[in-house]
Amino acid sequence: MKEGTMTNSRILMQEFDYYSPTTLPEALHFLKEHGVEAKVMAGGTDLLVQMKQEIVAPKYLINIRNIQGLCMIEHGKDLKVGAAVLLNDVLLFFKGDKRFRALSDALECLAEVQVRNMGTVGGNLCNASPAADSAPPLLVYDAKVKLANSQGERILPLEDFFKDVNKTDLSTDEMMTEILLPYPEDGTGGAFMKTKRVGADISKISCAISVKREGDICLSSKIAFGSVAKVPIRIKAAENALRKEKVNEDLLLKIGELIMSEINPISDIRSTAVYRKEMAKILFLDVFDLAWKRAGEKK
Ligand SMILES: Cc1cc2nc3c(=O)[nH]c(=O)nc-3n(C[C@H](O)[C@H](O)[C@H](O)COP(=O)(O)OP(=O)(O)OC[C@H]3O[C@@H](n4cnc5c(N)ncnc54)[C@H](O)[C@@H]3O)c2cc1C
Repeated sequence: MKEGTMTNSRILMQEFDYYSPTTLPEALHFLKEHGVEAKVMAGGTDLLVQMKQEIVAPKYLINIRNIQGLCMIEHGKDLKVGAAVLLNDVLLFFKGDKRFRALSDALECLAEVQVRNMGTVGGNLCNASPAADSAPPLLVYDAKVKLANSQGERILPLEDFFKDVNKTDLSTDEMMTEILLPYPEDGTGGAFMKTKRVGADISKISCAISVKREGDICLSSKIAFGSVAKVPIRIKAAENALRKEKVNEDLLLKIGELIMSEINPISDIRSTAVYRKEMAKILFLDVFDLAWKRAGEKK
């Protein structure tokens, strides 16, 4: 293997101090003291790989998986999903719930069960990969994220949380504590699909759609893509073009073209810009078709 080539078969060479607080204030205190040199660790399925590859070298690791309050899902005005809930537990929670089908579709094809039993939903978002599978469905469900530091909390639309590849709005003394999900209205259906090279793989491109219908009229829709920009994005021009329109093949083909003109993907190790652009239209048509059918199902 060439010097510097990315591989996950290395051993972890770095030395670091490891903290495992059991309360949020304790964790936030550690972050306040050591934020610049520290990294929050949830499942470690991204972080430990990055440490092995020497992309990051934190002096302190703060394990948050022993903080009970971060590992719970609660019903309320919004659904509150703790940032450190395992991906597999999120999947099990939402699996039978027809209101959040885009999310369960996405989690079902996120890696394999072994990774889903280590990795967390907050980790998937905070790692801020453009290909993070939980991001497009959470974007179309209008998720917000709760961020906390030792001074207090703030709530941010997920859309504003992603800043760049692997960059978020988090300050060094902050961590994500919750993902807040409003309940979708009746008559809403959702779906998610991705294309990938092999079975359990990061996506080449992904798409989530949530659509509200009345008969053959699309009252509103939310359309999000992964791996077509530096961050997971909503395509608002397409959403606006669908609003209050009668849905038919011609319209959907036009929206597919519009989506192609709205994105400017790159070529990388997983795919090419040309493939991603062409596939965005196809994926839109397939995902919309499924979400539309689901929106028409009796709940
Ligand atoms: C074999 C394999 C296959 C994979 N396949 C997929 C796939 O198909 N789709 C996909 O989307 N991902 C995939 N992943 C990536 C990974 O599993 C997910 O991104 C996972 O959700 C990360 O969660 P984690 O808890 O392990 O995060 P960690 O590795 O613990 O953390 C990731 C980053 O987020 C930060 N962080 C974590 N939690 C918080 C928090 N609460 N507040 C602030 N910062 C935080 C950490 O400091 C770190 O920078 C795969 C990984 C592996 C190893």
